[in-house]
Amino acid sequence: MKIDLHIHTTAYSKCSTMSPDELMMAARAAGLDGVCITEHDRIWTVQEARALAEKHGLPVFRGMEITTTGGDILVFGMEEEPNHMWTPADLKNRVNKAGGVAIAAHPFRGFLLFGFGALNMNVQDAIGNPTFLHVHGLEVCNSLVTSDENDLASQVADELGLLKTGGSDAHSPQAVGTCVTMFEEKINDEQDLVRALLGRRFTVERRK
Ligand SMILES: [Zn+2]
Ligand SMILES: [Zn+2]
Repeated sequence: MKIDLHIHTTAYSKCSTMSPDELMMAARAAGLDGVCITEHDRIWTVQEARALAEKHGLPVFRGMEITTTGGDILVFGMEEEPNHMWTPADLKNRVNKAGGVAIAAHPFRGFLLFGFGALNMNVQDAIGNPTFLHVHGLEVCNSLVTSDENDLASQVADELGLLKTGGSDAHSPQAVGTCVTMFEEKINDEQDLVRALLGRRFTVERRK
């Protein structure tokens, strides 16, 4: 089941230009089997997601992209919205209590563009980011970062034994489905999503 795990809509993300209906049409056009909406620090209600899914005949799952003191972290299987800026450790405690998954979003966004490349940042340096102690995985395919930055994330995740997920980070219809996570099994709800992620029963695909 092919799911885009990182998407922003105008419903709750001011930075997005894509309405929920536009998202669903783009997802169908891209051949996705489902979408997971991850607004900034907000989670859709079950009712909102169900209504959108039924309107378009495509599954809609709910996550969040939480702004922490250690960068953006995607969470799945947790409902609690932050009331202040958490540290990655705060977030991980809450995610674990909820039985969810935490994934560092675009962990090296801008790193290789803005000078770290010139310093020859290598995998060993990159591993030292303390945020990585408090996540289950890294996003290794995100359409808003360079392929070098995605590659570095992938190498670091391998080195640390972390999960490797993909999501487009779409803020507009053209980006939907550019990075997806392909699950081996049918995903019916967020609990299934969490189980499949923690069980490593998925691969990441990038649309060329
Ligand atoms: Zn982000
Ligand atoms: Zn995002």
